[in-house]
Amino acid sequence: MNYDFTENSEYDFENRMVAPEYTPEDAEVENPLRPKRLTEYIGQEKVKENLSVFIEAARLRKEPLDHVLLYGPPGLGKTTLAGVIANEMNVNLRITSGPAIEKPGDLAALLTNLNEGDVLFIDEIHRLSRSVEEILYPAMEDFALDIITGKGQMAASYHLPLPKFTLVGATTRAGQLSAPLRDRFGVVLRLEMYTPQQLAEIVTRSAQILGIPIEADGALEIASRSRGTPRIANRMLKRVRDFAQIISDGVITYQSAKIGLDRLEVDEIGLDANDRRMLKTLIQFYNGGPVGIETLAAAIGEEAVTLEDVYEPYLMQIGFLSRTPRGRCATHAAYLHLGLKPPAQASEEIIQQKIDGI
Ligand code: ADP
Repeated sequence: MNYDFTENSEYDFENRMVAPEYTPEDAEVENPLRPKRLTEYIGQEKVKENLSVFIEAARLRKEPLDHVLLYGPPGLGKTTLAGVIANEMNVNLRITSGPAIEKPGDLAALLTNLNEGDVLFIDEIHRLSRSVEEILYPAMEDFALDIITGKGQMAASYHLPLPKFTLVGATTRAGQLSAPLRDRFGVVLRLEMYTPQQLAEIVTRSAQILGIPIEADGALEIASRSRGTPRIANRMLKRVRDFAQIISDGVITYQSAKIGLDRLEVDEIGLDANDRRMLKTLIQFYNGGPVGIETLAAAIGEEAVTLEDVYEPYLMQIGFLSRTPRGRCATHAAYLHLGLKPPAQASEEIIQQKIDGI
């Protein structure tokens, strides 16, 4: 049979299938797919165990939950978890983000509009400006706003009590959070990448909600290509559905998932055409490195920051790329994955490894 699908290998960040960041296209499926309760939230067992204890204790004391900081890569379920916390505590959820709160007054307006016990979710909390952060300290600690108006002799300060609320902060970069802010969170939880089995469960659940018939090995195929990230898995599910309609009567089977994702140029471990192009350039033009990031970026016609922010994190995470003081290097695993022969290790290198191992 001849399937006529148009291929799209041009770099397009907005539509990049394997981007973990939120894109407007995700909105359509993300909301109905968000788990509402802890029991529906798949994986992250340690996080769930801790949270359920804290939630239960706060409920018994009839107090709001302590402030919670969630950190981990994009798309792992931080916003979803904030919603789950609000539901479990039976309170409202207000969502905002670091860059959206421009002035101290914006934050003051948000805080004064909260009801007792509400959850305020601030995504990308590491991007709050210093002046906004300073308003947040007394708000988190004493549930109060300290506002100073005017200057010199006309200056006046106001101490405004706030309803007791729970701040849930999310960040992809815990290291960039200022120490005084980090210290004000009573609960700090790190979200982990999901296993293919957990992602298959998420895909199966999402398919059920969206009314898409799916076989177990179809779900697992999508799961194994989605880089440990539920957002990517859900996005792939939506795209694969179209292929399944043509190939397998609308049922997502192993075959239709494989053909669909192959056509979308996402390989068995979730690398897309851009990831592979970067690795191939590094290997074929620069003998696998080390090569400076600017040189590599120029060779593939991208900006160095794009390489650093978009491609490198995952390639480093799976051990395909290393950053050394002399530049980027492709690892043996990267050669093998691309079907290329890794260079024989230099004898000095082997000796050094033996010395290190002693
Ligand atoms: P983040 O805020 O970390 O970027 P989100 O909370 O927006 O991630 O999650 C992205 C999508 O992935 C959501 O639409 C949600 O449906 C799905 N998702 C995330 N975590 C889970 C989970 N543990 N179980 C089921 N679905 C999840």
